[in-house]
Amino acid sequence: MTTAPDIVIIGSGMGGASLAAGLAPSGARIVILERGEQIPDDAPARDPWRIYTNSAFRSPETWLDEEGRPFEPGNYYNVGGNSKLYGAVLIRYREKDFDELQHYDGVSPAWPFSYEELAPWYDAAERLYQVRGDAGSDISEPQHSGPYPFPPVPDEPAIKTARQRLEAAGVRPFSLPLGVDIDRWLAAGKTGWDGYPDLRCGKMDAETCGLAAALAHDNVSLITGAKVTSLKAEPETGRISEIVYEKDGVEMRLKAKIVALCAGAVQSAALLLKSGIANSSGYVGRCFMNHNATAMIAIDPRFRNDAVYQKTFGINDWYLSDGEGGMPLGNLQLLGRVTPDILKIQVPGLPKFAARWISGHALDLYLISEDLPDPESRVVLKDGEIQLIWRRSNMTAHRKLVSKAKKTLRRAGFPIVLSRLFDGRVPSHQCGTLHMGADPATSVLDPDCRSWDHPNLFVTDAAALPTSAAVNPALTVAALSLRAAETIKREMNS
Ligand SMILES: Cc1cc2nc3c(=O)[nH]c(=O)nc-3n(C[C@H](O)[C@H](O)[C@H](O)COP(=O)(O)OP(=O)(O)OC[C@H]3O[C@@H](n4cnc5c(N)ncnc54)[C@H](O)[C@@H]3O)c2cc1C
Repeated sequence: MTTAPDIVIIGSGMGGASLAAGLAPSGARIVILERGEQIPDDAPARDPWRIYTNSAFRSPETWLDEEGRPFEPGNYYNVGGNSKLYGAVLIRYREKDFDELQHYDGVSPAWPFSYEELAPWYDAAERLYQVRGDAGSDISEPQHSGPYPFPPVPDEPAIKTARQRLEAAGVRPFSLPLGVDIDRWLAAGKTGWDGYPDLRCGKMDAETCGLAAALAHDNVSLITGAKVTSLKAEPETGRISEIVYEKDGVEMRLKAKIVALCAGAVQSAALLLKSGIANSSGYVGRCFMNHNATAMIAIDPRFRNDAVYQKTFGINDWYLSDGEGGMPLGNLQLLGRVTPDILKIQVPGLPKFAARWISGHALDLYLISEDLPDPESRVVLKDGEIQLIWRRSNMTAHRKLVSKAKKTLRRAGFPIVLSRLFDGRVPSHQCGTLHMGADPATSVLDPDCRSWDHPNLFVTDAAALPTSAAVNPALTVAALSLRAAETIKREMNS
């Protein structure tokens, strides 16, 4: 489109696409540089063997763990970023998540602004991503200015039964806020959507919503296969003067008035470390967070689970307190359906008939607890490679959550409950590595997501989040990006 755009956005995932959607109507000339390509229409997007055995959608890249051992991270580089495979739970942080909150193993710090400041941008994000939900059904739901744009995705019959059994066991399941047009999704294939890539057939993700809204404007263009390799800053003014990227093996350069980095929490931090910029606080890459998460399977031989998509309710009864005057534990939500194939992939030694039996009598759940910011939990570069040193925190809360969930599921008539903690190779809820704050000595970004060091550099991806809370991050990333778009527009006008 142009070699000197007004704004360059790096990454077309949840942060980049939402930011582009917010900026597009301004008429500013915007170029989005995306390292990946669009997932093609004929990709094996409903074949769990191609998805979960890593062959079809992951890049061959490796990162190093704390001990320096290479591993293949569950991180996706394509138009729309990780949101193409996400579970589309589009849920707000709770009001109290913006305040300082005491947890069993530490403190979750306050955000530099309150929930009320972000609430209008949550409204806008829910409209952009066409969220389906029922604000009244969640006891911890923060104030909304109105109902969700669409009614909730309905429970399938088996899931409705499970919801009733849990209600009878004393908890209050709520309808998960979801970005899925279920009829369109099922028309393209009878599977769940959590973990399955979307071929533009019903999932509301960064590509189908944020990017689609942005690219409807002639002033926005997307360059795919464009991997940004460094950012250069002018020594006198601190302004980012050049964006260097590789496309088709050729090094290219761009200049822009504003640069927005939205490459995902790990890659954005790695790019700034590599470029040697934005780090006067020493916090670039620090405070990496990634939810303590457990997959749980609750089995009852009398329960027949013939659901296809399943992921329609959650439980927040223990979100802000353990229900007995104790501290916050976290969120529980259904997983996408764990089919016999998926079970077999996860537990290869399991005979096929056993996988079929378990899957047919089980309810599959996902438990999330807050990971607290710790400067020693971090992304660093080791001989140019990404090393992820994840120091889990707050495991007391997570263990209590797992225990509460098991007891409740047993009370609901599921005598066998199995669980497995997700490990650090699955950084799906990565965040915090360039977090914003009120103090330039302990944060990388100001409360508008602008670098303290470089006046024309913004970061609006999950790296900007100061805390991980205990809910899925994507809607908060989108809301922050839409809010930052307003700041950038004001700046362009002045
Ligand atoms: C399997 C799975 C399920 C999930 N389920 C949910 C859910 O139900 N709800 C929820 O809220 N969240 C969920 N998440 C997390 C959610 O997808 C992320 O929080 C969200 O996508 C983060 O947005 P982002 O902009 O930070 O990063 P991303 O969306 O990952 O976008 C980063 C983009 O930058 C590009 N990029 C990276 N490096 C470069 C570079 N050097 N140059 C150019 N481009 C680059 C990437 O290719 C990518 O497109 C899930 C994630 C996964 C993997």
